Amino acid sequence: MQSFGVIVVGAGNAGLCAALAARESAKSVLVLEAASESERGGNSRFTAGAMRVAYSGVADLKELMPDLTEAEIAQTDFGSYTESDFIDDLGRVTEYRGDPNLAELLVKRSFDTLRWMRSKGVRFAPMYGRQAFKVGERMRFWGGLTVEAWGGGPGLVDALVAAKQRDGIEIWYGARALRLITDDHGVHGVVVRRGGSTIEVRANAVVLASGGFEANAEWRARYLGPGWDLAKVRGSRFNTGAGIAMALEIGASPCGNWSGCHAVGWDRNAPEFGDLSVGDGFQKHSYPFGIMVNALGKRFVDEGADFRNYTYAKYGRVILAQPQQFAWQIFDSKVVHLLRDEYRIREVTRVRADTLDELAVKLEGVDAEGFLREVTAYNAAVRKDIAFDPTALDSRRTEGLAVDKSNWANTIDTPPFEAYAVTCGITFTFGGLRIDTEAAVVSVDGEPIPGLFAAGELVGGLFYFNYPGGSGLTSGAVFGRIAGASAARNRS
Ligand SMILES: Cc1cc2nc3c(=O)[nH]c(=O)nc-3n(C[C@H](O)[C@H](O)[C@H](O)COP(=O)(O)OP(=O)(O)OC[C@H]3O[C@@H](n4cnc5c(N)ncnc54)[C@H](O)[C@@H]3O)c2cc1C
Repeated sequence: MQSFGVIVVGAGNAGLCAALAARESAKSVLVLEAASESERGGNSRFTAGAMRVAYSGVADLKELMPDLTEAEIAQTDFGSYTESDFIDDLGRVTEYRGDPNLAELLVKRSFDTLRWMRSKGVRFAPMYGRQAFKVGERMRFWGGLTVEAWGGGPGLVDALVAAKQRDGIEIWYGARALRLITDDHGVHGVVVRRGGSTIEVRANAVVLASGGFEANAEWRARYLGPGWDLAKVRGSRFNTGAGIAMALEIGASPCGNWSGCHAVGWDRNAPEFGDLSVGDGFQKHSYPFGIMVNALGKRFVDEGADFRNYTYAKYGRVILAQPQQFAWQIFDSKVVHLLRDEYRIREVTRVRADTLDELAVKLEGVDAEGFLREVTAYNAAVRKDIAFDPTALDSRRTEGLAVDKSNWANTIDTPPFEAYAVTCGITFTFGGLRIDTEAAVVSVDGEPIPGLFAAGELVGGLFYFNYPGGSGLTSGAVFGRIAGASAARNRS
């Protein structure tokens, strides 16, 4: 029987960070990955690589991105995003329900962990394309999200896999962890299905990093509620909750917002699971600059309630709750230049028209008269006396509507008009396993389970209701690093 110092289950960002950290002191590390090599990288590979990190100014950013040129620095207002900004944002959007110890670790270790990733060969870049607008002659960052992994999610995974190879970490693709090997003294390995055989692999410690249960329609309906089986999965088809199930089976404590998840507006005609050739391109995140209407032609949510980073993760649920689970996003030519790059992909469900009447009949599934009435009422309610500013909460709002828009309310009156059909795309689930500050999995009796650690999406207790964009990768990296180091120390 084969034996390793540490076994990591799952080769996404959290698992690969755990493996690299474990290898700093463990003699041997094995990563088990259910997907084939060509489908490797989990949800992490589908991302844009955006990573939320606390920094106090451009000097910190320069440490993460030494390639920043003097010209870039001169032309950019990077501002700062302090630890207390990060803590405040996390607390506000999760309604202060998260475990404060985990939240503090996430925030306080964010910068140092990205610096550590850099030391492993991951490169970072400023997220100009999605998180900055031109104001006068300078680019200004907004929303606290400034850094992305070079090459996005695919670049991040490639860099971590290259680091793993340099560090002599073994990885088995097409190897599905089935259950944990346990006795009264804790966890001692994993039962694995690989190449048609079921084998036992022993280890001093196991790190579970196999993602949430978003790709499991049965669990979605069971835990998120009726209708969630109908959501599209934005990323990996492999994240079926297997790691969570394995740990619960041996007495781990479930924790966090099991009925909650991150879900966004996603192309209505996107496939059932994510498509690596499109990545996150099916998302449609520029709704703050337009309006969204449902099958009745009615608006149903405040599109401008906050910066997109703080609303997008909860609006998928709102779209799922609409009749026939869809909505159309509507823009006029005044704002089309502000639409993000994902609006220009080939695989997009879009209609264009030169008049609102013509647009109304092109919106498949929508009551055209209801839509025209809604736009007329909306246009009349816009406070045109307040200036529009996409980089700030500008308070340019509507007044007197059943559902008012709080910021960035522009009239929809200047042709050509564009509309995009969206449904709900689930990103990842919030409920999962309880861990302590060493990333040890905690049992229902409240004690750490010897030899078992966890990181990434399958950890519960950090995110409730909503999530500040870019925190998923940072959480996987911070807790992956902690879990890997703790696992290597375990029984050594
Ligand atoms: C389209 C999209 C865009 C996103 N954009 C961002 C972004 O820009 N920034 C951000 O912070 N977050 C983003 N996220 C969220 C982010 O992807 C996750 O928070 C993060 O990648 C989770 O990392 P992880 O390592 O926990 O899981 P994953 O990266 O999903 O890795 C889990 C791995 O476990 C494997 N696995 C599952 N079951 C088993 C088993 N039984 N045995 C062995 N292996 C198994 C899976 O195949 C997978 O490779 C996005 C997600 C999606 C889907």
